[in-house]
Amino acid sequence: MKEKVLITDIAKFSVNDGPGFRTNVFLKGCPLRCEWCHNPETIPAYPEVYWKKRLCVQCGACMEACPRDAINPPIEPEIANIEGSTYHKIDRAKCDNCLKCIDACKYDALELVGKPMSVSEVMDVVEQDRPFYNTSGGGMTLSGGEPTMHPAFSLELLKEAKRRVIHTCVDTNGYCNFSILEEMAEYTDIFLFDLKHLDSAKHLEKTGVKNELILKNLELLCKKDSDIGIWVRIPVIPGFNDDIDFHTKASAYLASLTGNGTIGNIKRVDLVPFHNYCMDKYNWLGRKWSYSEIDAVNPSFLDIHADLYRRHGLITTVGGSGFEEIDTAKTLRNS
Ligand code: SF4
Ligand code: SF4
Repeated sequence: MKEKVLITDIAKFSVNDGPGFRTNVFLKGCPLRCEWCHNPETIPAYPEVYWKKRLCVQCGACMEACPRDAINPPIEPEIANIEGSTYHKIDRAKCDNCLKCIDACKYDALELVGKPMSVSEVMDVVEQDRPFYNTSGGGMTLSGGEPTMHPAFSLELLKEAKRRVIHTCVDTNGYCNFSILEEMAEYTDIFLFDLKHLDSAKHLEKTGVKNELILKNLELLCKKDSDIGIWVRIPVIPGFNDDIDFHTKASAYLASLTGNGTIGNIKRVDLVPFHNYCMDKYNWLGRKWSYSEIDAVNPSFLDIHADLYRRHGLITTVGGSGFEEIDTAKTLRNS
């Protein structure tokens, strides 16, 4: 396949995106707009520019290169320092992401977000980690953004990985035509399937879409007669879905899809605590983040939530480590 897709990163040795060490391929483009998003650079399906303030020496070369007058005139470093984190070099309202400024910067303060890559170029990077897959049970994970936004490319990548006997995971928000997931399932060992809220109005308010299609797809995937595994991932977001009521309902809902952990494709549930490590990325993109003042969720706070799922026989982790062995499910179910 000649098609290239924008990739924001190929992260190596990831331990939270499927079993073992994973090579995590981040595709750019997502149909959702989750307000807490931890990967904001993967949302728009077009290339963007990071501006890294700490590397910028205010030389003004980018301004000369910009055809849209989208870059403020250089200012004295002392003034920039006084303005602190509120100072911003690129006026994003004028910028059309033509990328001409990147080459002009000799200080690496401007960085391309979203590199076009072909299937074979991605696989060349994935292959570098093969020794670690063999020792850890790891493999390749497609993430984003949303892999189903690039169905032909993602399918080709998965096929190629399976041809090379590499374990595959797909991290999806489930918001797509089911036929895409169904086709991917032929070449996917585990789906990491996001569940954000059961209340469609709340889902719409914080993610920009209703949840009916997502829940329907999860249910169809659960019923699929195949060897695929599903790890349901629930990002636990303060003030949105961190309440016991939601997790009581979510655990009962997932249990209803699995016969209380005895049937179906759901192999485990991962509660993923909200964090704010991604703050830099919002600053580099010049975007405001409504969660910038929200504290990270302490993982130990989620033990009570996790037990709700375990009591239904669902293997459950807090954090989603690919090396975590949890065998408390049966104990709790029988207690
Ligand atoms: S990417 Fe934006 S800031 Fe950079 S040259 Fe193009 S319009 Fe100007
Ligand atoms: S070219 Fe680079 S270092 Fe110079 S002002 Fe622009 S971003 Fe800053």
